[in-house]
Amino acid sequence: MLEINLKLKKPRNPILAGLIMAVCILLAIPGQAGLARQSEPEEAYYIVQEGDSLWGIALRFRVTIDDLMGVNGISNPDQLTIGRRLLIPGLEGIQGELTTRTISFGNTLRSLSRRYQLPAETLVRLNHLTSPAEFFAGATLVLPLQNLSTPATHRSMLLPGQSLLELAVQHNSNPWSYILNNHLPGSASALPGDVFHLPGEEQTSEEGPGTLPDAITNISLNPDPLVQGKAAVIQIFGPEGLTMGGTLNGRPLHFFQDKNGSYFSLHGLHALTEPGLYPLVLTGTLPTQTAYQGASFAVSQAVYISGGNYPYDPPLTVSPETIDPAVTRPEDAQWSALAQPATPEKLWDGLFQSPAPPPFSDCFPSLFGNRRSYNGSTYDYFHTGLDFCGGVGTEILAPAAGIVIFAGPLTVRGNATMINHGWGVYSGYMHQSELRVKVGDRVEPGQVIGLVGGTGRVTGPHLHFEIWVAGVQVDPMDWLKQIFPK
Ligand SMILES: [Zn+2]
Repeated sequence: MLEINLKLKKPRNPILAGLIMAVCILLAIPGQAGLARQSEPEEAYYIVQEGDSLWGIALRFRVTIDDLMGVNGISNPDQLTIGRRLLIPGLEGIQGELTTRTISFGNTLRSLSRRYQLPAETLVRLNHLTSPAEFFAGATLVLPLQNLSTPATHRSMLLPGQSLLELAVQHNSNPWSYILNNHLPGSASALPGDVFHLPGEEQTSEEGPGTLPDAITNISLNPDPLVQGKAAVIQIFGPEGLTMGGTLNGRPLHFFQDKNGSYFSLHGLHALTEPGLYPLVLTGTLPTQTAYQGASFAVSQAVYISGGNYPYDPPLTVSPETIDPAVTRPEDAQWSALAQPATPEKLWDGLFQSPAPPPFSDCFPSLFGNRRSYNGSTYDYFHTGLDFCGGVGTEILAPAAGIVIFAGPLTVRGNATMINHGWGVYSGYMHQSELRVKVGDRVEPGQVIGLVGGTGRVTGPHLHFEIWVAGVQVDPMDWLKQIFPK
């Protein structure tokens, strides 16, 4: 490889020319070259890049830092030079420069094996896998650099009733190319719904979701990684007439098509979700009036939900009836039930504006997500909304367009309002002194919907503002700072 590269480039530098001469002379002596090959074990290595640390490299290649230092004779882990060739231990029989990529959703051990034309066993060894489930979205994929240069990015799905020959003809190919490129034991092992990869003319650097039919050109998950207490946005680029569904950690995803044609699902991640891996399942049906003939597909892959670093409030003491389950549970259920349906019309547009007028719009006595303990309980509670400053009589403004679905008195929440913004997004307002809207009203951004008060179970008057997405409360601050979906 080195030899070829050097021959291709015409050196103008005499020192470089001298070096090449030396290399060529060495290579021309058979005994020397033979000896060099024998004494040099087959090895897999990584070239240190700018910004790398030994710790980070060990983590990415799933080796211990001690093994990495030992095999490379490194005594000081802080002295790592850019361009240094680091041997990666434990990969006997695998040769060449290694690199890493982040696994995106929709790419599994099988699809990555097909895309990069590497036997699955090699990928398992390179990545020290004990289970294919370790290829979760966001995990690091180790692969030989040379396999990145010619990925088989052309995808095609075998339809029910279709033979591999028919599929091959449809894509101007032959069954053997499919069998070889996809490591199939034979044409009989090609099953309907399976997505095959071929090197194609339309190769791009864009990877695409390899386990999904080629009609699905891309998927994105935001934020990446997902965070407890935040809204997750799943965007899918697919054909007109696509029907999408699925679940995240067992809760249904609702997909809607936006005006630009892509499909969005807004999902709420509960603030008390334990950080860890959770299954994301996507199901879809391709349009009938196309070559896909209404074929359906399903893909499941784990995604990581990380912690939101919410602080722990000092233990709170409240009057016992405030947390009496006999009172709170039925009201929680009533309030939560309001926010469950995902209606198809998206009523909001752009950023949510603050529900509190200046100077209170940037004044928050309490933030979303804070862990709470009441009357000596464990920290099983969290603050479900964002509290605003502003005393009794301060106007409360609709943050975005929507339809009022609740406006009335509740025991714990006091005078409360809930607005449906569509696509499973709701906003809630509590403890008001006065309600200025009624159920069925269509509100516009900035419209006065009520006045701040101290009704319900509160220690003092304030506005408690909630945002619900797909049936759970999420951090309202995000909605005031960033446009959803995106
Ligand atoms: Zn509050």
